Amino acid sequence: MTAIATNAATVRAVVAQLAAWGWPSELWPGWETRRNRQTPLVWESVTVHHTGAGPVSTSYMANPADRAALVVLCNAHITKDRIRFLAAGGASHAGMSDRATYARMRAGQAPLTGDMKPGADSPTFSANRLSFGIEVDNAKTTPEWDEWMQGAVVALCAALHKVCGWSVDPSPRVITHKELTRRKPGDPIMDAGRLRSLVREFLAAPYGPPGSKPWALGDRLLSKDGNDSGADVTALINALNAKGYKLTNDGLFGPAVDAAVRDLQTKSGLTVDGIVGPDTLAVLTEEEPPVIVEPTPEPTPPEPTPTPQPKTATFQLGVANCQSYDGTKTEKAWRGRAAIFAREGWQIVCCTETSKAGRAVMIDELKLLTKHDWRPAVFKAGAQTVAVLYDAAVFTGGRKTRTADFHTAFGHGAIVVPLVVGGLGVDVAAVHVRPGSVASDAGKKADMAKAAALAGTWPFLLAGDFNWNRPAIKGLTRVGSGLDTHDSAKLKALDNLFVRSGTEVTITTADETLVNPGSLSDHRWLGYTVHLLKPATT
Ligand SMILES: [Zn+2]
Repeated sequence: MTAIATNAATVRAVVAQLAAWGWPSELWPGWETRRNRQTPLVWESVTVHHTGAGPVSTSYMANPADRAALVVLCNAHITKDRIRFLAAGGASHAGMSDRATYARMRAGQAPLTGDMKPGADSPTFSANRLSFGIEVDNAKTTPEWDEWMQGAVVALCAALHKVCGWSVDPSPRVITHKELTRRKPGDPIMDAGRLRSLVREFLAAPYGPPGSKPWALGDRLLSKDGNDSGADVTALINALNAKGYKLTNDGLFGPAVDAAVRDLQTKSGLTVDGIVGPDTLAVLTEEEPPVIVEPTPEPTPPEPTPTPQPKTATFQLGVANCQSYDGTKTEKAWRGRAAIFAREGWQIVCCTETSKAGRAVMIDELKLLTKHDWRPAVFKAGAQTVAVLYDAAVFTGGRKTRTADFHTAFGHGAIVVPLVVGGLGVDVAAVHVRPGSVASDAGKKADMAKAAALAGTWPFLLAGDFNWNRPAIKGLTRVGSGLDTHDSAKLKALDNLFVRSGTEVTITTADETLVNPGSLSDHRWLGYTVHLLKPATT
């Protein structure tokens, strides 16, 4: 085979190899026979140039009409986004060269960092025919090549080494024009040693153009004849080794891989052609039928003993003197009072100065507004003005109320209603202590003590009108800040709340709010959030 025919076969194989790595390239019309005037030689190395004057058209490279002596200026032209093959013969890219630096490169001794310094041109030696000449557009920037262009130069050099079987150890057969002749300083700008190192690295792990994705197994047919290599061939060799073959994985589809593929095709009853297509891939990637191991039944773990949870319950409580003595006692007024309870979201209200009629209206209004069933706890006889109204959707009753009558003409007394909320019991008491007009301080204190005596073992809440400036009750804690719940004379902070935790359940309150019922009453009302907590018992 003639040198130019050999070179043409090389170009075809290089095109295929570049494609295998993901680098597209083009064959310039007439490339197969294009050559300069000298007898073509078989390439043995590659020389890299830049187009000093900036980007040049490929047609000019292939036919520099203004330079009659020259026929074609390079074997391949790399532009900003193309690799083009122009000539399988010799190209006039180097001119007279320094034989010494060329020989050093040819012997694999060119440095992997820095440039070789050329001596004088040899009058008889030129690298034009021996060396594959690549011209890369000099983008007239620094660096002169972007990632794509530099990658294309490296990939093309690597493909030539691979196809022609040139060793890269200790150094590849890559030289730059500036290393061949003193006439071309800075041609190209790139550090020649670095370029040689990049070619070695590329062959160790080929890659495609920036942003291109490597071949995945199945993207294309693979075979030895295709000279295939790349990420998908690496995956193919891994899959073959998973089937028990013992192949070295160099990412190349060589004779050993070919033999393994043919053996697999034979064993699987497929056409034995060494081509890895969908059928062969199906066999390769089919899962080994899983070995069903009858699991020894796990002993059923014992039911975890539920960790006892603390019981908690929270509700909104209101304290309201409803002025049934000398306040407004119209139906409208009673509905107005109930509307405030509902607006505040109270679920239980300790009331004083209520009337039977008034309570009935309030309960009715609360049912209307909250869509819940409400219940009153009141005296059967005696002090019927004191009452606890509660939302039956929140509280369940059922136990007997306990009462203390202070025997006034106006119904002062105390009532306790035992209720259950969230599974926890609480005693809620309302009290109206006798006023100074009928009781001394001692008398009032006695009233409060009577009311406190109604407490059981459950958590105990006592709220109401104490007719006393800052009342205190033995054994009970007064809640809150003692906000101004004055009477019309602004003399006393009357209405308050006292609590005592139960034997098992703690009781705390929060969010004390002052509510002004407006013209409906000269008392101010109080609202609280009440929390009950019963710790978990093991
Ligand atoms: Zn040059």
